[in-house]
Amino acid sequence: MKTIDGNHISRAIIKDLKKQVAELQGPPPAITFIRVGENPASIAYVNRKQKVATEIGMLSNVVSLPATVSRDELFKKIDELNNDKKVHGILIQAPLPPHRVEREIFNRVSPLKDVDGFSAANLGKLCQEDESGFVACTPAGIIELLKGANVKIEGSHVVVLGRSLIVGKPAALLMMKRCIEGNATVTVCHSKTNNLPSILKQADIIIAAIGQAEFVKANMIKQGVVIIDVGINRVNDPTKKLGYRLVGDVDFKDVYELTSKITPVPGGVGPMTVAMLMRNTLKAYHQQQK
Ligand code: NDP
Repeated sequence: MKTIDGNHISRAIIKDLKKQVAELQGPPPAITFIRVGENPASIAYVNRKQKVATEIGMLSNVVSLPATVSRDELFKKIDELNNDKKVHGILIQAPLPPHRVEREIFNRVSPLKDVDGFSAANLGKLCQEDESGFVACTPAGIIELLKGANVKIEGSHVVVLGRSLIVGKPAALLMMKRCIEGNATVTVCHSKTNNLPSILKQADIIIAAIGQAEFVKANMIKQGVVIIDVGINRVNDPTKKLGYRLVGDVDFKDVYELTSKITPVPGGVGPMTVAMLMRNTLKAYHQQQK
């Protein structure tokens, strides 16, 4: 099928994780989410992740802190969880209130419990191709989507649109990893890239993660390209109950005919991110049992 079904591929992974957790002896893996402030998107993301954790048979807990929480208090809470043997994974839910320095907060989480893979230690392990680290969930999910859709990465030219620490950079590192699920030639583009369409036209695989609604159009791509659309953008739509609909960074309708495979939004990358978080939590649990 041309549309890559992230719901279907993630369900198979979740089913397998559920089976693995059911076979464990003793208390199950446990993840704690830290939420700062009352951002509706953060609340929704955490609820969704908790639901899947419960389905798999993992324990989950949410620590809600006010947006005004001091840096010291936040660090104290993270340190408590770092030292709590009953907690295997810790996730600081982004987006954080704007005045927070995400990098120092992500680095405070013990690398052994950093199931989001955002700490310097885990990003460094990814760079070193050290399998003991945790790979950021969205990029890891992209690899699983491509595998699930039988897309050959090795030898292909992958263009990654976006260079963020949570998607673009780790996705580029994974694609160039020395392995059968990597070995691609990777070009990374960002807001200062010149002649973007001419670069996109050379891509066998495009990973779009820029947060710009329906930015990639048919006239920017070549026939037969595979597109992974990471973007989640709200656009006003009075015909919808909520007054908006979600679209990706790619104009799905415009590019569809030209692509050989493409992920939809929603129902593509999103569900994979959650499945990879659960996989990382089980990995953290096993590492901490040793
Ligand atoms: P960031 O805002 O952190 O990074 C955006 C990147 O896109 C930057 O590197 C920026 O360039 C680049 N960019 C922005 N505009 C353009 C442009 N016009 N042309 C080329 N490059 C551009 O975003 P994230 O990586 O956090 O997220 C990207 C998108 O993916 C968002 O829509 C987000 O909601 C979604 N997302 C989805 C997830 C999922 O599970 N499906 C998970 C995480 C994110 P520069 O560096 O020069 O500023």
